[in-house]
Amino acid sequence: MNDQQLLRYSRHILLDEIDIEGQEKLLAAHVLIIGAGGLGSPAAYYLASAGVGTITLVDDDTVDLTNLQRQILHTTQRVGQAKAASGKQTLEEINPTIEVVALQERVSGERLDELVRSATVVLDCCDNFATRHAVNRACVANKVPLVSGAAIKFDGQISVFDQRDEHAPCYSCLFPQDQEFEDVNCGTMGVFAPLVGIVGSMQAAEALKLIVGIGESLAGRLLMLDARTMEWSSIKIRRNAKCVVCGQAH
Ligand SMILES: [Zn+2]
Repeated sequence: MNDQQLLRYSRHILLDEIDIEGQEKLLAAHVLIIGAGGLGSPAAYYLASAGVGTITLVDDDTVDLTNLQRQILHTTQRVGQAKAASGKQTLEEINPTIEVVALQERVSGERLDELVRSATVVLDCCDNFATRHAVNRACVANKVPLVSGAAIKFDGQISVFDQRDEHAPCYSCLFPQDQEFEDVNCGTMGVFAPLVGIVGSMQAAEALKLIVGIGESLAGRLLMLDARTMEWSSIKIRRNAKCVVCGQAH
């Protein structure tokens, strides 16, 4: 790190749990963020400001006026532009010393697999079950930790699925792929603006902890927030030996 970096990250370096060694891990890390919307925005803000060396932002959508109430990476001037490119512009203004890769595409199959394989941690910030399951499959196959967040109306949830631990569940252990879940996304439903900020910021926190290797992650626990009352609840998630995604992986 040069003098500018030592200053920029000094409040992290002052933390015994992070220090110079931890900050260097962050600078060497690559975080893949699937979705540059409500959750991806605050998550990307904190990962960029904290000095994650490479951030890949994947989103095939463009900025819409209805996004601006909560998707804080984007601005009024950028309505109609690609979300990935808009996000990259914001992140580079915050921290020009990191690399931000903007991909305006809906990734799947081998392409998704390749991106996941190159990542230190993956953040699922998308809004549909098909993508969530595809991202989970790629993370299980490549044993890359996945930080999963969701937010709708006043309800938020967050967990970590870390297949480097053979006892840890995957996303599909919790929500089996063959089960029919109706996609209730913010495209049609309401969502309380700061809720995505709370959940997305926690996703960033879990990603930073996983990269530096500090504390205890949310692996095996699902946290749920009811923002009407600000009550958090936590349930244990167990690995399902019959899970079609991770059951065979061990
Ligand atoms: Zn599983």
